[in-house]
Amino acid sequence: MRLKCEVQILNSRPPISSGPSHKPARAVFCHVSLGRKPGQNDGPILLMLCNAKNRNGDKYKVHKNVENIFSRFTKEGKATVRLTEPPCDIAFSQADPSQLHMFLKLVRFACERKDVPDKILSVLAPVSAKHVEKPVTKLDISKPSEYPMSLPKSLEKLTINECLLRRVSPQITSLPSLQELDMGFNQLTTLPDSFSELSNLKSLLLPCNKFTTFPDVLLKGRFHSTLQVLDLRQNEISIIPSDIVKLKSLLKLNLSHNKLRHLPESLGLMVSLRNVQVSNNLLDFLPGTFLTQTFENVDFCDNPFLGQLPELFTSFFSFTFPSLAECAAKVIVQHGIHYTVEDLDYVSINYLKTAHRCICGNISFESGKIGLVYKKISSTLSYLSSNSIPFQIHYCSKSCLESFK
Ligand SMILES: [Zn+2]
Repeated sequence: MRLKCEVQILNSRPPISSGPSHKPARAVFCHVSLGRKPGQNDGPILLMLCNAKNRNGDKYKVHKNVENIFSRFTKEGKATVRLTEPPCDIAFSQADPSQLHMFLKLVRFACERKDVPDKILSVLAPVSAKHVEKPVTKLDISKPSEYPMSLPKSLEKLTINECLLRRVSPQITSLPSLQELDMGFNQLTTLPDSFSELSNLKSLLLPCNKFTTFPDVLLKGRFHSTLQVLDLRQNEISIIPSDIVKLKSLLKLNLSHNKLRHLPESLGLMVSLRNVQVSNNLLDFLPGTFLTQTFENVDFCDNPFLGQLPELFTSFFSFTFPSLAECAAKVIVQHGIHYTVEDLDYVSINYLKTAHRCICGNISFESGKIGLVYKKISSTLSYLSSNSIPFQIHYCSKSCLESFK
């Protein structure tokens, strides 16, 4: 039984007068094994800790020598084994939780009994340098000549900047532990379908590339529950799909320096979103749903904000009764009922795409009315002469119109 993790040896009974020199040893990446010395079939079971500086390993007796096992945080890859002799705590961290669980079970067993089957023990021989090498979790590549032949599978954070990348290689999309990916300052225009296999990705930075459309693959896979940061600044994107609302964990979105004329109303309905950057686009107005959000940080600078609406909509505010088609469409959108081209005809599908969200959260179709309100959202927005920004609102009813105009 072997385990690779960080190990820290702490004195479980510190001296009564601990002077400034009494410092706990720092955690070191170790190859941990439990077994007997080679050729000693009846010998004592020992716990061996090998690291890069000591590949022969330090050995500790286990039988009748474990005072306590602190296993409350095993699921987080942490646990501590307290020994009687020498009196110390062996603290494990950054371990694979299931391996650590098995290992502690075996330590407990070996403490109580001598007849542990050999097949679940290891032969305690010195380990090779490769075994005590700490896995590479972070890699920064800032020019094409630094690009390696293969990427370590253990990577959690990968930066590839200014490498003239035109496509994302399968090597990147098959990194199982990748959490942060920065591919800024390249030539990317799209992300491959295999990108959805990055099931742990929390942060994706793609600034200064050549995307002309929003990478739709981000709306697939597990991104809805993992992705927290998305940076698409300085691309050439003109439309953001309303399905972006599926990214329920997104906290931070940067869309500055693109070619956006509109933002989807759904952007104002994203439950986690707190930081939105949309400066230097071509926006005429912002979606009314933004008025119901409490953002911590927003940047709307350098947009035209002309906010012109057709005369018909601004002057004509009578509400009509919804048609039967509209009532059915509202139910489909409000309940997120799934449909395909086999279920509905082309006209109905196009009609469903015209759904709008009123600021009250209701869906509105043709019976609703569009309005434009200028709201002062911050006294520090000095780049606008009036300090007000136009918001386009799709009122679902007369009472919504009365309360928000
Ligand atoms: Zn409403």
